[in-house]
Amino acid sequence: MTIAENVQHVQQTIAAARAEAGRTDTVTLVAVTKYHTIAEAQAVAATGLVDLAENRPDGLAEKQAALTAPELKWHFIGNLQKRKVKQVINKIAYLHSLDRLSLAEEIEKRAERPIDCFIEVNVSGEASKSGITLAEVEPFIKSLADFKKIRVIGLMTMAPIDADEATLHVLFKKLRLKRDAVAQLNLAYAPCHELSMGMSRDYRIAVLEGATFVRVGTALFQ
Ligand SMILES: *Cc1c(COP(=O)(O)O)cnc(C)c1O
Repeated sequence: MTIAENVQHVQQTIAAARAEAGRTDTVTLVAVTKYHTIAEAQAVAATGLVDLAENRPDGLAEKQAALTAPELKWHFIGNLQKRKVKQVINKIAYLHSLDRLSLAEEIEKRAERPIDCFIEVNVSGEASKSGITLAEVEPFIKSLADFKKIRVIGLMTMAPIDADEATLHVLFKKLRLKRDAVAQLNLAYAPCHELSMGMSRDYRIAVLEGATFVRVGTALFQ
């Protein structure tokens, strides 16, 4: 299939899952271009998708140099090292991987405007995954109260690659319930209405469980 056909297929799958779940809110398809060429990223953008994601500072810089349309919104989805914050933070619309206070402090120093951030949560507890635990979410968000450059718009997670469907439903639902609990705190700096969850193999289930941003790479480019 062509990239345009893949995009259409993923969008149809998202629409069907939204309908199945009786959802009326929106789901943003974020195209993850990290393993793909500039030409492939341009082909994705040509289909009308405006949300593009990279997971490394160099990859972001390379894609942004080539794709300059002002409507594009760039998402950073990888682990962000402190020393790379300066290079990245004023070039993105969303950070999906805020997971520690030292990173928040560096963002506070380097950002020229408030940054829309997702807190990355390791819902499954896999040792190999980054992210804070579910129990750490509220204390961590409360510790961000005085940061003027951080706006917590939601929570993000990555599911284990070997999780079965039932497990995926459980993990995604846990993140949704935590998102709801944080939203109920009514913190001005942490509205926390969004859920960034779902990748190529599990975005349909993530949408059924309330994802508002899905991060899809492989399924768009295969
Ligand atoms: C690579 C990546 C994705 C996309 O993964 P695919 O399986 O290619 O869809 C999504 N989120 C994060 C954080 C990633 O690193």
